[in-house]
Amino acid sequence: MKAIGIDLGGTKIEVQTFDQDWQVVDRHRVATPEDYPELVLALASLIDRADKKAQQVLPVGIGAPGLINPATGLALMANVCAMGKPLPRDIQTAIKRPVTYMNDCRALALSEVVFGAGQSSRIALAMILGTGIGGGVTVDGKLLQGATNAGGEFGHISVSPYLLQKYNLPLIDCGCGRSGCVETYVAGPGLTRLSEVVTGHSFSPPQIAQQRHSDQSLQKVWTIWCELAADLLRSLTLTVDPDIIILAGGLSQINGIAADLTQAANQAQIGDFGIAPIVLAQGGDSSGARGAAYAAFRAMQS
Ligand SMILES: [Zn+2]
Repeated sequence: MKAIGIDLGGTKIEVQTFDQDWQVVDRHRVATPEDYPELVLALASLIDRADKKAQQVLPVGIGAPGLINPATGLALMANVCAMGKPLPRDIQTAIKRPVTYMNDCRALALSEVVFGAGQSSRIALAMILGTGIGGGVTVDGKLLQGATNAGGEFGHISVSPYLLQKYNLPLIDCGCGRSGCVETYVAGPGLTRLSEVVTGHSFSPPQIAQQRHSDQSLQKVWTIWCELAADLLRSLTLTVDPDIIILAGGLSQINGIAADLTQAANQAQIGDFGIAPIVLAQGGDSSGARGAAYAAFRAMQS
């Protein structure tokens, strides 16, 4: 056995044990408790269970939504009941050994670069398009991580004011406390919101995806979405200039998304500089846990 990876989410916690080839050999899932002491207890007992099954003490990596403030050690997380709590520290105290704790989007980015779509690239950017938007950037197979831990929170980059004006879109309040964050237009709920603005009706992302070729107003919704997402890719390209852009999350399942975004992003770039290849993630639903487990394994070696 190599390491234990935990995917901590708003509704479930899944623990996975990885063998020498980084394949899942054991997995166990429980509902996420709604009470903080119970959450810590649940995580500790899942790790204990995995240790016992593996009959050895393995490195533990946890991928979770939200951020840990490196200055205070306290969590900023909306979907799990650990807001303002020192979750990584409390888990370590409970299991009496260190854990590698990371944002779940960064864990997925690392997993895709080491095991998936970004294996041959030097600078890779992974973007998860789900109920929010987050991701990570890796250079030579290592995550870029700086002073604030906030790098990769792409969803909270400001939306293009030019596009807001062009399509007469309203300024929308974001869960982070600001207004006009790009994820309020481009994440799954944002795509539905765009359909409300354009058509007066609320359409789900699968409805928009399926009907975008046959329904003119939904085609317009999709065009606006692509332009907004392409503008985000433009900003990211101007900042980190990746060799590859890897899409993951619910919206990445939309048929033809990589081709549509490539076209929109090529148009959005300055001059004729184009955009890096846009591809889909390969790791499936084990990616986050595998990335966290891998990070924990590497941390033990260094
Ligand atoms: Zn925001």
